[in-house]
Amino acid sequence: MSAQIIDGTRLATEMRTEIAAQVADLKANRNITPGLGVILVGNDPASLSYVTAKERACAAAGMLSREIRLPEETTQNDLLNCVEQMNQDPLIHGILVQLPLPRHIDEKAVINAISPAKDVDGFTPVNVGRMLIDEPCFLPCTPHGIIQMLIRAGVETSGKHAVVIGRSNIVGKPVAHLLMRKARGGNATVTVCHTGTPDLAHHTRQADIVIAAAGRPNTLTGDMLKPGAVVIDVGVNRIPDTSRKSGFRLAGDAQFESVSQVASMVTPVPGGVGPMTITMLLHNTLESCLRTCATTLP
Ligand code: NAD
Repeated sequence: MSAQIIDGTRLATEMRTEIAAQVADLKANRNITPGLGVILVGNDPASLSYVTAKERACAAAGMLSREIRLPEETTQNDLLNCVEQMNQDPLIHGILVQLPLPRHIDEKAVINAISPAKDVDGFTPVNVGRMLIDEPCFLPCTPHGIIQMLIRAGVETSGKHAVVIGRSNIVGKPVAHLLMRKARGGNATVTVCHTGTPDLAHHTRQADIVIAAAGRPNTLTGDMLKPGAVVIDVGVNRIPDTSRKSGFRLAGDAQFESVSQVASMVTPVPGGVGPMTITMLLHNTLESCLRTCATTLP
């Protein structure tokens, strides 16, 4: 079997066009522009490139983006003040604090300081809790992007067995919840595997859908799959490659060559989950702006 590629770039473009149309409509009819506030601390090159991609996507969708860039040695208090400034800013509907933060800063304290009403990453305890009890909330971008991909690629999840590899707060746990909840793109039977799982292949071989979010290349190989399974590869791993100017290439958690021989559908890396994650950030920022309009405008 040669798997069909789920083109995340194409699906993301499709969604971004829909978002841009809604942004244009808001501007024309309500004179309001959705705004994203981005806070970046330090000079980590990967974080810088993620932030740049998010800001570009914002601009392309017609949204406002406002960036605060702080030096590595910024104190936690100064950072908390910046977050509070954005909490109070009526032009900012969504706040993104790029992670990871420098070691001397308590990440949880910073996330907790973001107003849940502007938490477009869906990381605050309030939004996580609301998600778990199916109340209105901002869904975390990567898991939500994965569900949107499955829906838009025509993958049936209801009644299927999904295996999630990884139990992190930002990918594994929330995507497991979204896959199991009784909603479109959910209603699956979900197994969550992690570093404490003795025989990963035993579980993945029973899966109709595998979500690989381990952060390790070659975690999933073709012999670990049931023929026809759908594979969503979340991993982003930098593999040293001297033939490239950057000195590295990106690879997912799935061994693409063998997996694509057994799976029916697979997402590439790059060009799979990544573009969908950014798109869902735009979606949440627009959603936040719409909620503001609903509460403040006649
Ligand atoms: P993490 O390190 O916080 O969590 C990894 C999880 O995988 C852990 O829960 C661990 O128990 C599990 N794990 C690791 N090795 C395993 C193995 N051999 N077998 C079973 N389980 C194993 O990572 P994360 O933040 O969840 O991210 C996972 C990957 O997804 C990373 O490569 C990250 O860069 C990528 N990511 C991509 C996007 C995107 O938008 N494309 C967004 C977030 C994360």
